[in-house]
Amino acid sequence: MTVPFIPPRRILMGPGPSDVPQRVLDAMARPTIGHLDPAFVDLMEEIKAMLRMAFQTQNALTFPVSAPGSAGMEMCFVNLVEPGDKVIVCRNGVFGGRMLENVKRTGGVPVVVDDAWGQPVDPQKVRDAFKSNPDARVLAFVHAETSTGAQSDAATLAGIAQAHGALTIMDCVTSLAGTPVRLDAWGIDAAYSGSQKCLSCTPGLAPVSFSEKAIAKIQSRKTPVQSWFLDLNLVLGYWQSAGKRTYHHTAPINPMYGLHEALVMLEEEGLENAWARHRAMHEALRAGLENLGLKYVVDEAARLPQLNSVFVPAGVDEAAVRTRLLNEFNLEIGAGLGDMAGKIWRIGLMGYSARQSNVDFCLQALHTCLR
Ligand SMILES: *Cc1c(COP(=O)(O)O)cnc(C)c1O
Repeated sequence: MTVPFIPPRRILMGPGPSDVPQRVLDAMARPTIGHLDPAFVDLMEEIKAMLRMAFQTQNALTFPVSAPGSAGMEMCFVNLVEPGDKVIVCRNGVFGGRMLENVKRTGGVPVVVDDAWGQPVDPQKVRDAFKSNPDARVLAFVHAETSTGAQSDAATLAGIAQAHGALTIMDCVTSLAGTPVRLDAWGIDAAYSGSQKCLSCTPGLAPVSFSEKAIAKIQSRKTPVQSWFLDLNLVLGYWQSAGKRTYHHTAPINPMYGLHEALVMLEEEGLENAWARHRAMHEALRAGLENLGLKYVVDEAARLPQLNSVFVPAGVDEAAVRTRLLNEFNLEIGAGLGDMAGKIWRIGLMGYSARQSNVDFCLQALHTCLR
């Protein structure tokens, strides 16, 4: 007979998921109620309000999609890009490449702005792309490229899009709650994130937010959104103001309890304090990694505190080290993706994982493996 699954106890210092606090796990174990129960509707309203705090926005249309970050990405593209729309897509890592894939599949006409992996998006290249493509409707970029650990200058990029009358789609899956994200101050029209990175909830929910300009574009579409599940015109009826709620899909009730608890914890700590903690833990980890002789992939100015990419030293078997960390230390760190597979490690300090005991433990374990 198959026996119940008991997971090993790991310390999660990869590119996500991050360590989930016991409080969040306990919240998820509370009794399931109906998705149209007035008590659940109240919970949804509180989640929306706390997500506005996390995103630093007044956008009414701010809510968690009932699916992982990738579905948040897809929701932005299928709603804001119509066949024939020209979209400038910035690609400086894996996730920019996925944005490009989304543009192609929606029938959009992509204009790709490439930067080397490990570099932030170069704003001058984006200005040039708009100059050659004044009819571009949308600019899409990844704020925090988790595949490399580079952060791009979102305020400047969004400003360029505004100057050309284009909407901005921003991936902030890894940045939200880890480094400053300010949708309204920057003028971002559509943003998506994930529950399992710096929010330290379990995977499977994608906080998203849309500006009034984005909603106007969606409501004036000439063609229906090809995805039924992700069509915001339909989802709106479910997430819109309490009282008028109608059935769209059954929300994942217990994961919503978890997200609510994670956001309550973020409120208790204070958003700016959370940003400062990620920065402080990054400084501590960086000092230790450099002591071990490890070199960062990304220049200091564009380095993400919550995702530390370092080159694997010559002569070291990168996969063997990760296997040993997992088996002997119950510690997960990330491997390189794509072009960087086999060449780098990605050490995450996301959410609850960004704490001193994790930094110390990781440095000790790496020291043992590299000795
Ligand atoms: C993790 C991640 C995603 C995808 O999120 P999933 O929850 O794995 O679907 C998208 N973009 C970035 C930058 C990420 O780090």
